[in-house]
Formats: sequence, C-alpha cells, structure tokens
Amino acid sequence: MTATELGLPAIKGTTVRDPGRPDDKRLIDTFGRVATDLRISLTDRCNLRCTYCMPAEGLDWMPKDEQLSDAELMRLVTIAVRDLGVHELRFTGGEPLLRKGLEDVIAASAALEPRPDISLTTNGIGLARRAEALAAAGVNRLNVSMDTLRQDRFATITRRDRLSDVLDGLAAARAAGLAPVKINTVLLRGMNDDEACDLLGFAVEHGYELRFIEQMPLDAQHGWERTEMITAGEIMERLSERFTLTPDGEERGGAPAERYLVDGGPARVGVIASVTRPFCGACDRTRLTADGQVRSCLFARTETDLRALLRGGADDREIAETWRHAMWGKLAGHGIDDPGFLQPDRPMSAIGG
Ligand code: SAM
Ligand code: SF4
Repeated sequence: MTATELGLPAIKGTTVRDPGRPDDKRLIDTFGRVATDLRISLTDRCNLRCTYCMPAEGLDWMPKDEQLSDAELMRLVTIAVRDLGVHELRFTGGEPLLRKGLEDVIAASAALEPRPDISLTTNGIGLARRAEALAAAGVNRLNVSMDTLRQDRFATITRRDRLSDVLDGLAAARAAGLAPVKINTVLLRGMNDDEACDLLGFAVEHGYELRFIEQMPLDAQHGWERTEMITAGEIMERLSERFTLTPDGEERGGAPAERYLVDGGPARVGVIASVTRPFCGACDRTRLTADGQVRSCLFARTETDLRALLRGGADDREIAETWRHAMWGKLAGHGIDDPGFLQPDRPMSAIGG
C-alpha cells in the first residue's frame, strides 16, 4: 500500500512498507538485483525417493486444500508476468508431472503477454508419454534428473527401479523438439562419483546437455555433510581425465551453471557450484511453493503468504505489492558456509528445486 493510499504524506518513489524502495514495478531488492525468473513448485509429492532429497517412507504430503488450485496458481503467475516483470517460468516440485492439469497450466502460462519462457524440471517418469503434449502446450526447455547410467545404482539412489523410464523420457523429449534437453546430475561420494565421465560421454553422444549440481543441505533428513559433498573442483578434475573443457565464453548473467565446451564444442557441460562458488550476487529468482508462499531464496527462512491474500479477497494490486515487499527483503546470500547457517524448514522437494 502506498503512502498516498494510507492518507500519509508521500515521499516520492517510496512506500510506507519499504522506505527507500524506488518506485519500480519489478521485483527489486536492496542489493540491486531484479528477480525475473519465477520457480513454481506444482506439488510436493514425488514418485521417486532420491536419498539426497527425501526419506524412503516419503514425507507428510501437503493436504490438497492447502495446495493452490489451478485458477489460484494462474492468478499469481499472471500477476508475476503482467505486473512484476517476470519473463521466465520454471515448473518443478516435487515431481511436476504428478500435477493433474499440468499441460493446461502450461498452456495458460504460454498465452500470457508478454509470452514468458517456459521450462520444466522433472525426474522423467512418464515423460515418454507426455513429452509431445508438453511441447505442444508451450514448454520451451526441459531438465531431466538422472544421476547414473547403471540400473542397480539408479534403484539404490532413487529407491525405485525406473532408469529405463527416464531414458525413454529423455529420448521422447528430444524427439518432441524440446532442445536442448538438459540432464541434472548430483554426484554422491562412493555411490556414483566414478560415473562423471561416463555420464558426460552419454550426454554428448545423445545430444543432451549435462549439468552437475553440487549437493546442497536441503534434504528432509538433514543428512548433508559438507565434507562428504563432491565439489565442483573435484568434478572438473574427474572430467579432465577424459575430456578437454574450456569456458564457453558466453555471458553467464543470472544462470547458475558455469558452462564449458567439451573437446572444443559444440557439446557443452555445466557445473552448478551452489556451495563452493555461490552465485547469489547475480541471482534473478523468486520462488512460489505449491501452497502459495513466496520465497526470495531456496535457503530463505521466511516466507510470504500469498495464498491467504488470494483467499481473503485481496486484489491484484495488493498481491503484487506484497510480492515486491517479499523480494525487497531478500538477503545477500544463502550463507551455507557461515558458522550459524541453518537449513530451511522445508526440504527441497517442498520448496521446488
Ligand atoms: N522431481 C524433479 C526432479 O527430480 O527433477 C523436480 C524437483 S527436484 C527437487 C529438482 C532438482 O533438484 C533435481 O535435479 C534434483 O536432483 C535436485 N536436488 C534435489 N535435492 C538436492 C540436493 N539436496 N542438493 C542438490 N540438488 C538436489
Ligand atoms: Fe523426487 Fe526430484 Fe526429490 Fe528425486 S530429487 S525425490 S525425483 S523431488
């Protein structure tokens, strides 16, 4: 709410809520960053149980009535694109393919003006059947998570024997023209860290772009240990045993991956060093959970409840203003290496990875 609306003397370009905030419609913060990339968790549920993400028995899933309906979700996405300058949408979860009506949500997002760039992060289960419909609905790019090429290891890491579904999903995504199809891989010490080169060889051979992600302290079981994590430095060392990697020279912007040409290109590989080489200074993300909470960071310890506003009858202007306020308070960095670091209460699967 602005000072004028409250009947207070207006100081030009500031709001009562955020004194000093320039009069800017976008999602700016006090460090000069602008959030234009919205990550949307469509569900906290999943059909895999990756050991670094959730326990074998799963989690207490969010009750259905707490989850935003498609109409509520689309109202927030519309406000983000139309009023807040968001131009990239990434749908994730949990497992986004488990959300009923996913294709409808994507089609409605693709119809927004200006048309946002739309991507999806999925574990690939069931993707083979849906890749074409997803592309037709408006998905521009897709990331499929796959940590190993070995069936037994896949079953151990994800606690489900579904590697062939993921491989079929990858191929279907490529056939549907969702290029470049990216593969997300988390390396775990003593489990799949000897597969870095094999995974890259596979990706290059099949025309997928591989991205290694450093394991982060976001698992529900709080089992992450800094000393056990495979660092970006180690990943590069392993890859260098078989491949020549050179920085691809492209402007990185807010992109988290450091990208390298593989053996001179055109194939590329990315390394996302969230822990050892944080990129918070260039972060351009804002996040929305499946129950309508805005988070300014994966590691934020506070959330802003847009669902309560929606269900309480707030108008679009008020919702937009609250979202701006939430992002204005974004902290400088995630602080994983700070002695006082505290893992957020929600795990990655409930925030949206
Ligand atoms: N279920 C979908 C999938 O697996 O692609 C989307 C959600 S998942 C949380 C998104 C990405 O986060 C996946 O690539 C997954 O490997 C990654 N991820 C999950 N837990 C992680 C952790 N503790 N550290 C780093 N990456 C993690
Ligand atoms: Fe599910 Fe993705 Fe978490 Fe694996 S990483 S358990 S696929 S949400």
